[in-house]
Amino acid sequence: MLSISEIIIFIFVLTLTAYGVFKPFKLKYKLIRLGKPENRYDRPLKRIKDAISSFLLLKCSVKRERIFTGFMHFFILYGFLVFLTVTINHILSGLKNNFSLFGHGIVNSIYSFAVDLFAILVLIGVVYFMIRRYIFKPKSLTYPSPESAIIYLFLFMVISTFLFYEAFTINVFSENSKWAFAGNLLWNYLIKNKLDIQNIKILIHVFWWFHILTVFGFALYIPRSKHLHIVFGPINIGFKNYNPKGILKPIDIERADVFGIEKLTDFTWKDLMDAFTCVECGRCQDYCPASRSEKPLSPKEIILNLKKTLLNDGIALLNQEIKELKPLMNNIYSDDEIWTCTSCGACMQVCPVENEHLPKIIGLRQSQVLMEGKFPSELNQFFRNIETNSNPWGIGFSTRGDWAKDYKIKTVAENPNIDVLLWVGCAGSFDERAKKITFSVIKILNTAGISFGILGKEEKCCGDQARRLGNEYLFQTLAQENIETFKKYNIKKILVTCPHGYHTFKNEYPLLSKLLNIGEWDIEVVHHTEFIFDLIREGKIKLKRTERSITYHDPCYLGRHNSIFKQPRLILNALNGEFIEMKNCGSHSFCCGAGGGLMWTEEKIGKRINHIRTEEAINTGAELISTACPFCLTMLEDGLKEKNKDNECKVKDIAELVAECL
Ligand code: SF4
Ligand code: SF4
Repeated sequence: MLSISEIIIFIFVLTLTAYGVFKPFKLKYKLIRLGKPENRYDRPLKRIKDAISSFLLLKCSVKRERIFTGFMHFFILYGFLVFLTVTINHILSGLKNNFSLFGHGIVNSIYSFAVDLFAILVLIGVVYFMIRRYIFKPKSLTYPSPESAIIYLFLFMVISTFLFYEAFTINVFSENSKWAFAGNLLWNYLIKNKLDIQNIKILIHVFWWFHILTVFGFALYIPRSKHLHIVFGPINIGFKNYNPKGILKPIDIERADVFGIEKLTDFTWKDLMDAFTCVECGRCQDYCPASRSEKPLSPKEIILNLKKTLLNDGIALLNQEIKELKPLMNNIYSDDEIWTCTSCGACMQVCPVENEHLPKIIGLRQSQVLMEGKFPSELNQFFRNIETNSNPWGIGFSTRGDWAKDYKIKTVAENPNIDVLLWVGCAGSFDERAKKITFSVIKILNTAGISFGILGKEEKCCGDQARRLGNEYLFQTLAQENIETFKKYNIKKILVTCPHGYHTFKNEYPLLSKLLNIGEWDIEVVHHTEFIFDLIREGKIKLKRTERSITYHDPCYLGRHNSIFKQPRLILNALNGEFIEMKNCGSHSFCCGAGGGLMWTEEKIGKRINHIRTEEAINTGAELISTACPFCLTMLEDGLKEKNKDNECKVKDIAELVAECL
C-alpha cells in the first residue's frame, strides 16, 4: 500500500520512535541503580508467576477497596493488548498490499469483531475515568494532572484513527470486515455515498499515517509519564516482599556508614523503583490514618516526592552536575510527615503495585534520631526511661515482676521447668489497666493446666516502640539482652499478650540474632489469641455464653502485619455473643493511633486518630469493643471517655472476655 518513499520515511520514523522509547527506560534504569543493593531475587519462578498473573488478571487493581474501577481497568488493559496486535497488522498491511494477520476467512472476521468490541470498551473505560477524575474529583487523585488528560486523549485518538482507517478500508476488504461492526457503522453513515473512490483511497493513506503516528506518539509518551506503571507495575510486583511487610531489617551498627536514610542514595534500588511504579491512584492516602485525620503525611506524596527528587537530583548526580546530594529531611520531607506515621501498614496493604512506604519513613526517622539527634521533644524522656529502666514509664526495673508476688507466680529462675514463658511486656507489668489482661491470661493458663513462668525483673522492653521511633541502637541493645536471657533459660516457647512484642520476637529478633551471630533463633512465638484459640479447640477450656453484642478492633501488628484475623473472631464466636464487624476490619482495619511509637508523642495536628476509630466502633451499636493489644485498648478507652460514651460501651481485651466466661 505504501510507496517506496513512504516506506523509507516509515522505517526512519520507526527507528526514531524505538530510540525515543528506549532512552527514558535506560535513564530510569540508571537512576534505580543509584539505590543500595537489596536481595529480591529469591523464588524466581514464583516472582515471575506473580508478576504475570497480577498483570493479566489485574489482581493488583481489582482489590476490594475499588472493585468497579479495577474492572474498568480490564477494558483498558485488554484493549491495549488487542491493539498491540492491531498495530502489527496495521504496519504490515502498509508494507504489503492486502495483508491480514489472520488471513481473509472466518478467523479474521472474528478478530475484526473482537477489535471493534475492545475499541468500544476502551472508549467506555476512558469516559468512565474522565467522569471520575473531572466530575466526581475524588480527593485521593492528583489535580490537575495534565498527564492523565494527555493519556485519555491519546487513547481516544488511537481508537478513533483506527476506526476511521477501518471504515475507509471496508470498501476494499468488504468480505473480511463484515463483522467489524463499528467500522461498518462509520462506513454506512459517514462515508458511503458521500465520498468518491479517489478520495477514499487518499484518506486510507492519510489515516494509515495518522493512526500509526498516534500510536508512536503514545509509545513515546508512556515512559515519560506516570503511565510507566504499565511496564514497571508487573516488574515491581515481581520484586515484592514476601515477608510480613512491617518487618524492619536490622542495621549493622558496627559497619554501617549511614544509619537509616539521609539522602537519595541511601534508599534501596527497590525503594527507588517504587517511585517510578506509582500509579498515583491515592489508595494509600485514602486508607492512611494520618491522612484521614488531616495530618500533613500522605504516603502517596512520600512516593511522588521521591520520584521528583530522583528526576531532579538523581539526574544531576548522574550527569555530574552536582557532587553532593542534599539531605532529604527538611528539603523534601518534613518532620510533621515522618513523625505522624503510626506504622500501621495500611498504605502497603492497599497499594496495587506493591510499593513499600513504611521502610522509607522509618529509615528517615532512623537518620534523624541516630545521626542528627532530632526527634519530637517528648521522646527525650521516653528514650531515657527505656535506657535506664527498660520501660517507657521509667519505673524502677527491679519492680517489674512485683505484681506477680500476690499471685504466687514463679519466675523462670525459680522454676525453669515450664512449657511456656509468659512475656508480660511493659504495659502488662506496669500499666494498671493492662495488668488486668495479664491476670486474665494467667487465669486462662491456670484453668487449662499450662505450666508457665515469667522473667520478672530480668524481662526488658522488647524494643519495638524505640525501633519504630528510629532508635535502632536502643532496640538492638534491648533485643540483645532479651535474646541472651532466653538463651540462658533455654526458652522454647514465648506467649505474648502484646502484638508489638509478638511481631518483634517472631519476625525481627531472628534477623538480629543472625546479624549479631548470637545463634539460631529456635523459639516459637505465639500471641494469646492464637494460644486461647488452640485451648478452646483442644477442649482444654470451656466457655460460658455471653449475651452481649461485641465488635472487634484488629490491632495492626496482629492483623495486617501478621495475618492473625481468624483466631480472634473464632474465639468471639465461641463466646456466642452477637458479633458485629466494623466498617474497616480485617486487613483493612483502621489504626487506633498508638503504633509506630506514637503512643509516646503528642498528637498536635488534625483530628485524633483514636476518635475516628472509636466512632467507627460506636457506630456498630455493640455493647463491647474487643481487641487484643494493650495499646489499642488504651486508645479506644480514651476515645470512649472523651466522647462521653464510656457508660454505654466498654473496651475489653479478648483474654478478659474469655476469662470472664470460663
Ligand atoms: S504506615 Fe499507616 S500511618 Fe504510616 S504512611 Fe502508611 S498508612 Fe499512613
Ligand atoms: S503508592 Fe501505591 S497506593 Fe499510593 S498512590 Fe502510588 S500506586 Fe497508589
